[in-house]
Amino acid sequence: MAVPDSPASARWRTAAACAGLPPEIVFARREKEARPALEACHRCPVARRCEESVAPAESYFDGVSGGRLWRNGRLVRLRGDYVARPIDTSDFDAAIVA
Ligand code: SF4
Repeated sequence: MAVPDSPASARWRTAAACAGLPPEIVFARREKEARPALEACHRCPVARRCEESVAPAESYFDGVSGGRLWRNGRLVRLRGDYVARPIDTSDFDAAIVA
């Protein structure tokens, strides 16, 4: 799903911990390929905003969002011990470095 571009969406995307990762990792459908993105989620200050914006279930999303892996909008059961929900940042604006 394409997230509409706006100044606000551009700001949270800039703060994403996965910002430097290639698309084939962020939008991977399998855990093995998605692992670097899943690990990035653990230190991501905009994890909640990511999942709210992507709305994986509603958008039939494939890839990593909010610390979880999605395939066709459904959660993928993960095996890695690195898997956990990321720290929830309720105020993403405060987490973004200007
Ligand atoms: S929660 Fe994960 S997938 Fe979403 S922006 Fe942060 S690092 Fe990227």
